[in-house]
Amino acid sequence: MGPSVNSAEKNAQIQDELVTTFRPIVNGAGLVGMAFFAFNAIKRFGFSEGLGQMVMGPLAIFFGVASGVMWLWTRKNRTSFQLEVCSAVICLALFSNTVTHLLIGFEAENLMYFAIMMPAFALMTPSFRMAMFWTALCVIAMLGVVWINTPELIFEYISVAVAGVLGAVAATTLIRGAIFNAVSARLEAVKEREEALRISVKDALTGLPNRRSFFDGFEDRLDGLRDSGRKFLLILVDLDGFKPVNDVYGHSAGDDLLRAVAGRLEAASPKGAMAARLGGDEFAVLADYPAQTAEVRRIASRLVDALSLPYSLPAGVVRISGSAGVYVCERTDLEASAMIERADHALYQAKNERRGEAVVFSKRDEVDLANVNHVDRCLRQADLENELSLVFQPQFDLVNNRVSGFEALGRWNNEQLGAVPPSIFIAAAERTTQMSRVTHVLLGKALKALADLPGGTRLAVNLSAHDLMSEANVQKIAEQIRLSGVDATRLELEITETAMLDDQDFASRSLGELQACGVSIALDDFGSGYSNFSYLQRLHVSKLKIDRSFVKPLMSEASAAKILRTLISLSKSLSMECVVEGIEKPEEMAYATAFGARYLQGFLLSKPMPLEAIPDFMTGVPTWIEQMQQEAGAVDIDAVTARPSTRLSTARRALP
Ligand code: C2E
Ligand code: MG
Ligand code: MG
Repeated sequence: MGPSVNSAEKNAQIQDELVTTFRPIVNGAGLVGMAFFAFNAIKRFGFSEGLGQMVMGPLAIFFGVASGVMWLWTRKNRTSFQLEVCSAVICLALFSNTVTHLLIGFEAENLMYFAIMMPAFALMTPSFRMAMFWTALCVIAMLGVVWINTPELIFEYISVAVAGVLGAVAATTLIRGAIFNAVSARLEAVKEREEALRISVKDALTGLPNRRSFFDGFEDRLDGLRDSGRKFLLILVDLDGFKPVNDVYGHSAGDDLLRAVAGRLEAASPKGAMAARLGGDEFAVLADYPAQTAEVRRIASRLVDALSLPYSLPAGVVRISGSAGVYVCERTDLEASAMIERADHALYQAKNERRGEAVVFSKRDEVDLANVNHVDRCLRQADLENELSLVFQPQFDLVNNRVSGFEALGRWNNEQLGAVPPSIFIAAAERTTQMSRVTHVLLGKALKALADLPGGTRLAVNLSAHDLMSEANVQKIAEQIRLSGVDATRLELEITETAMLDDQDFASRSLGELQACGVSIALDDFGSGYSNFSYLQRLHVSKLKIDRSFVKPLMSEASAAKILRTLISLSKSLSMECVVEGIEKPEEMAYATAFGARYLQGFLLSKPMPLEAIPDFMTGVPTWIEQMQQEAGAVDIDAVTARPSTRLSTARRALP
């Protein structure tokens, strides 16, 4: 929307401007009038006699005093009406003085005063109406006096009157035109400045305050906290599942969705709160601390609950959710960045453990956060080559009763921290932008290990989503594989769904570059993300690894068996290999095999082991697998399902 100046507003501004411009003019006219009448009084009392002295003398003093009062009075700001009255008093004094003078003793040359007064009055009168009134009065008075005293000169004085009127009109319109232009220009400039300011503080897509005004608002609230102890809530909100909507329905649907999210956030925010868009699908809300502590969670839950309702967009109905991290800002010793770090920590937990919910940063999180920062520091300083190592977990081919391959799993042993699990150090590497360093070391060790693995087995190496985020990283990985000289067909790279979600075209190109080295791609933790099946074939993924989250509830949730069976048959119909991960119990193995799973991985079959342990482990594997299969086969699923307190009877019915 371009700047537009409303005409009422403009008129009011012009009025103000007229007052500002005319006050010094009227004030100056008062001074000039006073000087003129003082001079007149001296002239009348000193050099005139008769009526000239008796009438004009006192009149000069009277008008001089009146002009002086007007001069004094207009030294301060006055309203336009008051200025109008002042200028009328001065004009009246000058006019009356001239008329009286002419009535007492007519002298033709004194008629010129009228011609001078017309533009002069027009100049000193704030309103156009009054300027014209005085001009008309001068014309009438001048022509009246001429008509009475020298009617033969009437035509000449009509010319003088016309010149005087023109002069008056010119004076009054010029001054008003100049003021009008100045006001218009100033108003436009003000509007433009306001518009620029509006754009710079509002998010263009959603109309919510943008990142910058969020931080301004945050700083204001921090001042309030430090000055008067006013606590407040900092709530960071991140959408779950926004990117797939953007990919599947297109960017314009994504924009619609973001606008709808913004509207809901605003509506669900408590009174006086500020909902802002920080960028992408990240939002934030600043809210007053509620009267009761229990309200904190309710406030945040209201926000995320509002986001999880279905969205009716022109492109179709979509469902997403939003996770929130809440920090109660009450400590005055923390900087803004430390508070944001805490809210972010809570958000991270929500995203990873309680998607679609709000997590409030707690005292225990304070300890966690200190640990996280400590881990990040240690990782930055770590000697990765010596501290990182790999363990190998076998994958079993139940058709051929053999180990088909191993998955290389990273381990970090740090002097200060001890053994750090990959869930911690991979996240730390991603946070501290060291993922590519970590991957380089682990991939190097995996490539070396490949030579020592039994022939005919493959090795799977995990990549982080961050490894695929830049072309440089992907090229570095491809280069490392090529230079190692290994048989790349024995190498499999495991990537997670999240790595695919941001930009599918880019992901497709990246995977293409890796596949060009001869490696195959497995989709890890399949089903734990958004399961957008459309890209599976497009990306030429050759294996799906079904996440343990589908295996774990097999004994307790009826739908789990159905889902697992569907996922296994989906991979078959897409001609992809399928590994069921996280098999811990014979019953789980029984289900998986019953559903036609060929490849299994899990603690039941083998825990991850160091490279040196593999030769021993491999001896006797076929007979051992047979035993396992018999054991699993001996599990009477019917019996298991008949157990009370479980809902397995339904699961059993789901079996083929
Ligand atoms: P993942 O790739 O899905 O690896 C499987 C994880 O499940 C491993 O945990 C493994 O020890 C565990 N696991 C295997 N069988 C079972 C089972 O029967 N029950 C249970 N509960 N767990 C089982 P780990 O080694 O802790 O790795 C966790 C995750 O960390 C991996 O999940 C992977 O995403 C990541 N990761 C591990 N090593 C690397 C690595 O070298 N690079 C990258 N980028 N990520 C890695
Ligand atoms: Mg994996
Ligand atoms: Mg996995």
